[in-house]
Amino acid sequence: MKYAELADLYRRLEKTTLKTLKTRFVSDFLKKASDELLEIIPYLILGKVFPDWDERELGVGEKLLIKAVSMATGVPEREIENSVRDTGDLGESVALALKKKRQKSFFSQPLTIKRVYDTFVKIAEASGQGSQDRKLKYLANLFMDAGPEEGKYLARTVLGTMRTGVAEGLMRDAIASAFGVKAELVERAYMLTSDFGYVARVAKLEGNDGLSKVRIQVGKPIRPMLAQNAANVKEALTEMGGKAAFEIKYDGARVQVHKDGDRVVIYSRRLENVTKSIPEVVDAVLESVKAEKAIVEGELVAVGDGGKPRPFQYVLRRFRRKYNIEEMIEKIPLELNLFDVLYVDGEGLIDTPFSERRERLEGIISPGERIRLAEQLVTDNVDEAETFYQRALELGHEGLMAKRLDSVYEPGNRGKKWLKIKPTMEDLDLVIIGAEWGEGRRAHLLGSFLVAAFDPHSGEFVPVGKVGSGFTDEDLAEFTKMLKPLIVREEGKYVEIEPKVVIQVTYQEIQKSPKYESGFALRFPRYVALREDKSPEEVDTIERIAQLYEFQERFKAKR
Ligand code: ATP
Repeated sequence: MKYAELADLYRRLEKTTLKTLKTRFVSDFLKKASDELLEIIPYLILGKVFPDWDERELGVGEKLLIKAVSMATGVPEREIENSVRDTGDLGESVALALKKKRQKSFFSQPLTIKRVYDTFVKIAEASGQGSQDRKLKYLANLFMDAGPEEGKYLARTVLGTMRTGVAEGLMRDAIASAFGVKAELVERAYMLTSDFGYVARVAKLEGNDGLSKVRIQVGKPIRPMLAQNAANVKEALTEMGGKAAFEIKYDGARVQVHKDGDRVVIYSRRLENVTKSIPEVVDAVLESVKAEKAIVEGELVAVGDGGKPRPFQYVLRRFRRKYNIEEMIEKIPLELNLFDVLYVDGEGLIDTPFSERRERLEGIISPGERIRLAEQLVTDNVDEAETFYQRALELGHEGLMAKRLDSVYEPGNRGKKWLKIKPTMEDLDLVIIGAEWGEGRRAHLLGSFLVAAFDPHSGEFVPVGKVGSGFTDEDLAEFTKMLKPLIVREEGKYVEIEPKVVIQVTYQEIQKSPKYESGFALRFPRYVALREDKSPEEVDTIERIAQLYEFQERFKAKR
């Protein structure tokens, strides 16, 4: 299959905003793909080369890309750089450069999707001495044989800047419609394996039957089960039917650990592969997890003096770090508190009740210095649970989780089988959709940020407030640098920003207000932290804000 056909799909996707039409385009394209290509095409359509959880990445920046295009076309690098300044879009500038290319080389071979993908793999796998040069050569070869349109989308794929408006939900629907299978089954298989390539193949070759037989696999991350809020311990206990497992809610970063013999892979909450940045945890897993093959989940916590927990931001500072890892192991020691097991030696456990899963977990873990079992109390007594809650808070933890004893593990679901109990109005995770340039000394910095929650009904982000405080000067400089490339429109001192960057925001109160279309406005919102561990789709929803508003009013009434 020619890469030009894929480029044509990108072009058509860009031209329409209609979801139904986009779904049809993607679905028709998937139908045309061979079985072999089907494993990679869903990712290419999403503008990626590998799934997020794959450790491989291209490692090509703008500079190297421009160099490759210059090599392939004979257009000087400086000219391409200047053109980017005019078009504001590297993809367009690459297309322009390719238009200028004098003639096709005599040996020119048309680009196939397979060739493009195989080259991307080679680029990702190039490492060590001379790897930049090899990457450059591979890329230049691709551009040598690319037409302007193909070049534009190659560039966007390489830099991860494809904007065709195809997200996971659309891909799910397109796979279902392409192969005449149920969307729920596609969704389920995807929640279990996080692999659209695999799911698309199963849908095509084995239909509904095959999809319903998809099981979790060691080496492919499962979407995490999530929790809803409870106002207090008593409410949680009632919701759980009178008896529940209460566990300390550790304030760290959630990880999913896959062990296969002596191979250990660790995924973050967003299912990114973070294994390499935390080698001491890998060693601890090999020591403590007694099963040959297992998938366990837990909260990774940074510990300070006397074993006291430190805020979760410390753990994030350990992730995705490529250098000074040994030094960081000393500076920010980690402790893994395991709370679930999803697979042991050939047996998937997600349909096993939680109380049994906990027993299985206890059976395969021998706790060590860095690995513990999450502290748990199974009770039907409110006072006992309340005492446990107070102790958790005194020890510096976030609060408690309450879990239904008979509940199965529901990948990707935020249901009522797990409830979290925390003392205060919790902070919100919101996405930045706009900003204002500062004044005077800060005129070159973005200063005040329009933040939005997600509205699942419309699929849009709706603003709930403007955050201007809580930032240091360094924060502002960093945010300006991060957000500038995401600006989609400027009007006076106001800019509109592509929703990508998620921040945690605290506030005094949620107010009902006609000011924003969401109907809510945050009173005294204040920046707390950058949430690199969350994607825009994972920000708090407008329903969640409505729910928090209810809590707030209820608490007010009690006071
Ligand atoms: P938060 O920002 O509060 O961590 P979240 O959206 O990441 O929320 P929730 O479903 O709201 O996730 O809360 C559950 C989270 O709490 C888990 O994802 C996990 O990271 C963390 N956690 C800490 N201790 C436990 C525990 N014992 N059991 C389950 N989750 C725990």
